[in-house]
Amino acid sequence: MENIHEQLKALLDPSAVVEAPSISAVGNWLGHPYNSPLVLRPTTTEEVAAILRLCNQHRQAVVVHGGLSGMVGGTSSAGDEICLSLERMQKAVSIDKLGRTMTVESGVHLQEVQEAAAAEGLFFALDLGARGSATIGGNIATNAGGNQVIRYGMAREQVLGLEVVLADGTILSSMNHLLKNNAGYDLKHLFIGSEGTLGIVTKAVLRLRPAMPARNTALVATDQFDKLPRLLSHIESALGGKLSAFEAIWDNYYQLATQGPHLGAPPLAQRHPYYALIESTGSDSEAEAATFLAALESALNAGLIDDAVLAKSAKEQDALWAIRDNIDSLAAIAPVIIFDVGLPIGAMEAYIKQIEAELKSQLGLTQLAVFGHLGDSNLHIVVGTETEDIDVYHRVEEVLYAPLQALGGSISAEHGIGLEKKRYLHYSRNAEEIATMRMLKKTFDPNNILNPGKVVDL
Ligand SMILES: Cc1cc2nc3c(=O)[nH]c(=O)nc-3n(C[C@H](O)[C@H](O)[C@H](O)COP(=O)(O)OP(=O)(O)OC[C@H]3O[C@@H](n4cnc5c(N)ncnc54)[C@H](O)[C@@H]3O)c2cc1C
Repeated sequence: MENIHEQLKALLDPSAVVEAPSISAVGNWLGHPYNSPLVLRPTTTEEVAAILRLCNQHRQAVVVHGGLSGMVGGTSSAGDEICLSLERMQKAVSIDKLGRTMTVESGVHLQEVQEAAAAEGLFFALDLGARGSATIGGNIATNAGGNQVIRYGMAREQVLGLEVVLADGTILSSMNHLLKNNAGYDLKHLFIGSEGTLGIVTKAVLRLRPAMPARNTALVATDQFDKLPRLLSHIESALGGKLSAFEAIWDNYYQLATQGPHLGAPPLAQRHPYYALIESTGSDSEAEAATFLAALESALNAGLIDDAVLAKSAKEQDALWAIRDNIDSLAAIAPVIIFDVGLPIGAMEAYIKQIEAELKSQLGLTQLAVFGHLGDSNLHIVVGTETEDIDVYHRVEEVLYAPLQALGGSISAEHGIGLEKKRYLHYSRNAEEIATMRMLKKTFDPNNILNPGKVVDL
């Protein structure tokens, strides 16, 4: 092994090499450890290619790192796996205003992409709570979702072209800039959402849209779950395509997220069973504010909401989003498992009741917090486990995942599979789908060096 390490180090500037033990105790946001003997931080695509060529020859496993904000252990490493971090590949942000595209290296943070687009009067339509630390490469590798999927789709919809380094070091440049291009297979889609198992994303051509300076945001409360999907339809029709977010919050999460002296009084009382954060974006501030208000008023008159607070400034809008994004408040029920399930909206209420009852009867667990992207059929369910015992974790996971199969649901609506959900993949994908995933993995990475053991086993 020493030999390959020395050869890898010789490919790079010393500043690109971090050796253990200095990083052995470092973990990512969720504390997934990486216990790697070597972290390589290349600055060019050619360096990534040279590293993979050598690793492929030596059957050296490589774990790919972006911003380390992933939620499913996709960047965890063990044994002699080396890590390849894209964090220094942050150059070459160029914007084509006319074609509405941005070309970036994959280590650029999502927030920097958003800000660079805004500086040119344009808009990048991907947003999520970890925008400051997540990289575009990680967003693409996980096909990230986030807060605006209901209007603009997931990361896949924001990508026009990719440059990817394959496991054998081949540089696959597929830097398409066109909105429509049906010249043969659209190869980028194989890598988007493949969680670093089929290739390493080094550059991307991103789709931009016109800026949407008019933003209207409200937090509303309602007493019954079945009013939430009705409210969603009502608001969607009333806003005529301008709805950009519809985030549901159960009372259990609202109470945690609005608790604590530093947060002040909650914008709405904590007594309501359900809340929704609603946002529209557009270009005409005055007209859209009036439409938004009228939509809320008609929802109130129709009995779909019991109370509402309308943000009157950007500061107030950010304060409402801060409630939705206050996942630090989950520390109050830690240790927790954060689930990311997808299921039809019509099945959500019964599903939550079922898992609540089973967690209590089978494991004596009662701490739950629920919120999520209701408009995308995606809920985040947080279960306080009272212990870090892995057997308890697995029992909790079975309770949540097993019912999804019959509902046509998904064990992962947006975070991916990584290491943590691999054992449950069969609840969401049939045997033929899993066999085809294996076939793709064997074709692209026959020596199984890229993020081995993640997503599917060979
Ligand atoms: C507070 C918070 C809020 C979040 N909200 C959302 C949300 O709303 N929606 C959502 O989808 N996710 C969300 N996430 C999860 C996470 O931010 C996303 O999965 C994000 O896309 C990961 O980006 P990253 O750069 O941090 O990737 P990492 O965590 O570094 O890596 C994630 C996976 O992608 C692979 N990878 C990383 N970079 C590359 C690359 N260049 N080429 C190939 N493979 C690569 C890794 O090997 C790993 O398997 C949230 C996380 C946090 C902490």
